[in-house]
Amino acid sequence: MGAFIILFAVIFGGGLLYFLFNKRNDFILKLTLSFSGAYLLGITVTHLIPEVYSSDAEHIGVYILAGFIFQILLEFFSEGIEHGHIHVHSKHSGIFPFTMMFSLCIHSFFEGIPMADVSQRQSLMMGIAMHHIPVAFALMSMLMQSGIDKKWALLSLFLFSAMSPVGAFTGIYLGDWLVNGLFEKVMAVVIGIFLHISTTILFESDSDHRFNIIKLGIIISGAGLSLLV
Ligand SMILES: [Zn+2]
Ligand SMILES: [Zn+2]
Repeated sequence: MGAFIILFAVIFGGGLLYFLFNKRNDFILKLTLSFSGAYLLGITVTHLIPEVYSSDAEHIGVYILAGFIFQILLEFFSEGIEHGHIHVHSKHSGIFPFTMMFSLCIHSFFEGIPMADVSQRQSLMMGIAMHHIPVAFALMSMLMQSGIDKKWALLSLFLFSAMSPVGAFTGIYLGDWLVNGLFEKVMAVVIGIFLHISTTILFESDSDHRFNIIKLGIIISGAGLSLLV
């Protein structure tokens, strides 16, 4: 319980950073994203994939593919804010982006469910925290710049930050029903989501394929950390 409150607070705090840094630092943002992308890819291939494939659940590969495609579908509505940046600028529209918020919440909710698994909880929690801090920051920037009232922006941030912990509680609560490989299938869907998100983040943080020693170091560190947790 306490761990999930910390997770909520960390993501919420990530969004509040917007009020501290009104000028965003692209260099630091890109390095943070590279690190979280590498870590996420790392835990997916070293922790999560082996776990679901060693279970008795059938057709795991199909569920991973389904998760990958599900995330592509979500991004039609979320405009890819899950990557921790904003692709489409709808400046000063003043209209609350309901569909974006809705798909972002679905994304975070799903990602929270596998945290019900105690053996993967710590590595997942770190992965979700690292990847959702820039997302919370991007969400706040987007909402505040579009001229939406501050209290609605904060309420949206609250909702987004709460979704992964709510997903985890749902997973724990449904634990008794998620038998016969059903839990592993849900985890496989999330693996598909993680594969899509992490590779996209790494791809997008790459500026014109130039060799960048700092970025390479950051990626190796992120992947290395996933082996330690
Ligand atoms: Zn993107
Ligand atoms: Zn996410």
